[in-house]
Amino acid sequence: MTALLEVDGLAKSFGSVHAVDSASFEVQPNTITALIGPNGSGKTTLFNLITGYLPPDQGQVRFQGRDITGSSSGRLYRRGLSRTFQQARIFPQLTVQENLTVAAGYSWQQLFGRRMSRADRERVGSLLEEFRMGHVADLFASELSYGQRKLLEFAAVLMSSPSLILLDEPTAGVNPVMIETMEHHIRERHAAGITFLIVEHDMNFVMRLCDPVIVLDQGREIFVGPPSQVQTNPLVLDAYLGS
Ligand code: ADP
Repeated sequence: MTALLEVDGLAKSFGSVHAVDSASFEVQPNTITALIGPNGSGKTTLFNLITGYLPPDQGQVRFQGRDITGSSSGRLYRRGLSRTFQQARIFPQLTVQENLTVAAGYSWQQLFGRRMSRADRERVGSLLEEFRMGHVADLFASELSYGQRKLLEFAAVLMSSPSLILLDEPTAGVNPVMIETMEHHIRERHAAGITFLIVEHDMNFVMRLCDPVIVLDQGREIFVGPPSQVQTNPLVLDAYLGS
């Protein structure tokens, strides 16, 4: 099977800190793959390298077999590789509905001129329904709870019809009901053919949702395998216990 995403010898240093140090792994299509590791192991830097927010010092990233190393985040978004952030990046001064509209690629002028295609209007409508956000559609995003903002960001990246979504700590700081909601939407979209790569600290969430699990330590992968083998792997235990 051809991997959807291939990370090959990727490296990035900040001064003398090797944040990502020759990381190599693959994400297979139609998986929900987890990327875990202790604090400072390089997960965020790796996400930034893959999604065009940071240029790598070395190495290659391939998406759908094409070299995308150094491609801009906008170009990747249009090609079907989208991401979310630990702190949801949405437009607080736009309404929920407008956030989804902007995510479809409409400029602010078009947004306020209401020149949206019927198909896109329908897509926004069905996302609002799917994410049960119809009742907050006209609220400013700044009025949403922290968890709802994360959900809105997730819904917004779906407007680009992605084939791969990188989620950066989707459940961090959200309440248990919202964690279930998030899990539900990931499962639904996975069933519809989207592949996920997820950085997440909540191990219960990772264990019930993700397979395989990639464990990063000191900027490189030390384990790739099924969740059932992660917690007993000696290299992983060492990395987390710091022994
Ligand atoms: P994680 O997401 O796994 O916690 P990070 O990718 O945030 O890890 O960080 C990996 C290492 O790189 C850490 O030692 C961190 O302090 C360092 N680092 C990350 N970003 C920067 C930066 N912009 N400048 C300097 N050091 C950084």
